[in-house]
Amino acid sequence: MHDACGVVGISLRDFSASVAKPIYYALHSLQHRGQEAAGISVHDGKGVRVHRGMGLVSEVFGDAQINLLRGPVGIGHVRYPTTGSSCLENSQPLLVKYRDGAIAIAHNGNLVNSQELQKQLEGAGDIFHSTSDTEVIAHLLVRELQRYDLADAIRAVMHRLVGSYSLVFLYGDLVIGVRDPLGIKPLCIGKLENGYMVASESVAVDTLNGRLVRDVQPGEMVTIKSGAISCERLVRAPRPAHCIFEYIYFARPDSILDGRLVYDIRVNIGSILAEEHPADADIVAPIPDSGITLAVGYHQRSGTRYRECLMKNRYVGRTFIMPDQSMRETAVRLKMNTIRPNIEGKKIVLVDDSIVRGTTSRRIVDMVRGAGAKTVHVRIGSPPIIAPCYLGIDMASREELIAAHKTVEGVEAVIDATSLGYVSLEGLVKAIGIPIEHLCTGCLSGMYPVEIPGEECCNSQRRITEFTC
Ligand code: SF4
Repeated sequence: MHDACGVVGISLRDFSASVAKPIYYALHSLQHRGQEAAGISVHDGKGVRVHRGMGLVSEVFGDAQINLLRGPVGIGHVRYPTTGSSCLENSQPLLVKYRDGAIAIAHNGNLVNSQELQKQLEGAGDIFHSTSDTEVIAHLLVRELQRYDLADAIRAVMHRLVGSYSLVFLYGDLVIGVRDPLGIKPLCIGKLENGYMVASESVAVDTLNGRLVRDVQPGEMVTIKSGAISCERLVRAPRPAHCIFEYIYFARPDSILDGRLVYDIRVNIGSILAEEHPADADIVAPIPDSGITLAVGYHQRSGTRYRECLMKNRYVGRTFIMPDQSMRETAVRLKMNTIRPNIEGKKIVLVDDSIVRGTTSRRIVDMVRGAGAKTVHVRIGSPPIIAPCYLGIDMASREELIAAHKTVEGVEAVIDATSLGYVSLEGLVKAIGIPIEHLCTGCLSGMYPVEIPGEECCNSQRRITEFTC
């Protein structure tokens, strides 16, 4: 599973200050949200400069690139593609030039009506240079700016977009942050010593030694000019629909989302998992890194000893496609190794955040059994994923999702676990502390908060259709 992008925008009071370095560090802290491409766009007082590239932040930017991006105002982006293929043209910030100027735009999320909108815009004469839905947003904004002032233009665009979007724009010397009316993807405001910022997660604010002010409200626009901030709620929905997987897996545990520390939520989930699915075991161990905080909660509630059994190699890059089975196994062991003395002869509970296809879980259970475990109970900090995500997460197709086709017992057999237990949706919601009506649970329930074209089985029960200004 991959998240789809992290965004940041910073405006500093001091005109001689350079914003590129703080954006660079903020993007580093958001690297978990996307590793395919990175980019920074800066306004230098006269115009907008952009540098983008494929790869990690540290691979795309060196001193030379950062030094060229001079100016006190800018935005940045790390990308994992959802709509649009993985190529430089689709990396962001996307710079769109038009008659009256230029706008740079960075987007976290996914529009479900982007093809329809693109067709309409092409019919009206617009030419597209990428296959990303972000370019659709940029084209719509440029058109609305011919008719309205900035806030009304953004409001008009928001009324046409369906899907998830946390956006940052660089519009002249303004940094603008916008969160979709359902608040599906996160976006927060931070105060810096000499300015303000918006970012996907509060860890970016922490990294710059700033203070988290609050989350951007669903449907709100935040404008930062010369280091000063103003906010306006442009579009209102009857309730939000925050992505439930941000709390389970995507956001960093040290981030605060919607007023809650993600670490605490994950400990709560682990604790409820232990109540719902106890196991006769000597040790509870996480699947690193995603299962660590959940396993801490399971250990605290069950009293089962916490001991790590698997170690991840953090320095391994992409492995080649291996021609034979023994080399493939070598590649797996290179990424993750067992701590044999902690496993041999023991009854083990392995804790992870989710099961997508089941192949990784099977491999890990095999490794732990191969290292001498007596029994391997698998406990999962999310309910079964039964449907794809159309709202910004690169998960898998319905055909690939193991729980879309198999019962819990069926998945248990495929991954060869002694027993398998998923946290219940009720338990998960209790652990998060947000009412279920305020969460998107599309991939867990098949009920999405917006209409998904082509998703016939989509239940309309939780759909949100009324928006007001
Ligand atoms: S479908 Fe699942 S992963 Fe996608 S936004 Fe909703 S809760 Fe998040």
